[in-house]
Amino acid sequence: MLGILPLPRSVRKDTQSVVETGMIYVHIPFCHSKCAYCDFYSTPDRRRMGAVVDRILEEYELRKAELGEEPSRTLYFGGGTPSILPPELFERLAEGLYRIGEISEFTIEVNPEDVSKEITAHWRACGVNRVSMGIQSFIDDELNAVGRRHTGEDALNAIDTLREGGIENLSCDLIYGLPGQTAESWARSIDLLLRERPEHVSAYCLTYEPGTRLTRRLEAGLIEEASEALVEKMYSILCEKMRSAGYEHYEISNFARQGYRSKHNSGYWTGQPYLGLGPGAHSLDKDGVRRFNPSDVRAYTAANEPFPICIIDEEDETARLNDILITALRTSEGLHTNSLPAHLQNELLAGAESFIRSGELKAEGCRLYIPEEAMLRSDSILRELLFDNSV
Ligand code: SF4
Repeated sequence: MLGILPLPRSVRKDTQSVVETGMIYVHIPFCHSKCAYCDFYSTPDRRRMGAVVDRILEEYELRKAELGEEPSRTLYFGGGTPSILPPELFERLAEGLYRIGEISEFTIEVNPEDVSKEITAHWRACGVNRVSMGIQSFIDDELNAVGRRHTGEDALNAIDTLREGGIENLSCDLIYGLPGQTAESWARSIDLLLRERPEHVSAYCLTYEPGTRLTRRLEAGLIEEASEALVEKMYSILCEKMRSAGYEHYEISNFARQGYRSKHNSGYWTGQPYLGLGPGAHSLDKDGVRRFNPSDVRAYTAANEPFPICIIDEEDETARLNDILITALRTSEGLHTNSLPAHLQNELLAGAESFIRSGELKAEGCRLYIPEEAMLRSDSILRELLFDNSV
């Protein structure tokens, strides 16, 4: 939700990487209802849930060679709302993809209203060792304003339940810039979360995506967008509080306690191959080929569709290098310019000169990075640095 630039697609190797090779992403495209800001692919119609799970397992068998010989090391169930899956479907899916001793990080995205003692025990029994929970805010009016189904208290109870159920690696999402949110209420949400000491926190700035309910309300003058000054203030409150609490700010929107960077997401940011299964999932194979599955449950499960149904995403060299640039410069490690072709290193440094002078970019040897205080402006910096079509 943060930023305006296209989603990054590949990056160089990070010297402080926690990356494991071989990553599987599974997209579960079902949600209880649609949040007002959301433009991800999801549907509340759950009739084809079982068929989607069967097709995902079929897709895995057909495509697993794309990851190469190595066993997969991370498994990530995202969505949509994977915690919506009934226990028997979750188990069938996990059993088909999970090999004990191979996966080092098995993450499931959950919403607080789905967390119970029983389902937590079930997730654990199926191999889940990391939970990523969408909290967004602890202030009920702010949650209501964007159509979230839980309250702040529900989120706190869900954290307790997950902890009591043995989840020792917990990531929580927050959103700033929500309608009606103030710097004070944002600070209160962060404080409440930090009391729980989650191992990982992702904090995103709300964006108004075309066609969402929230954007229509904005266009109708029913709500106001947070000003740039307020968003900047919220981001600096976030950075300050996370720093004081001992979290490492390792990517523009991501903070981790020592040893708890997300292995799976770090893999995306460092260009590791990943296999994306399910409607709307994207993939990058070991030869650098990108594929995406159409965002359409009906097409994905149709028995007469040729399967797998993924489409190859033709990416030219300029797009590939720009992906490297965008993704790397959004991490604290930054970009190692010597990973670029020689003729582009000079071009990049020439473009970066004015930002280096203003302190919005730092250069240390061949490492180029955006310091934390300029991170929020990374989109405008990156826009100036992107390579043109002459690469
Ligand atoms: S739960 Fe997540 S994926 Fe589903 S509608 Fe809300 S934000 Fe979108």
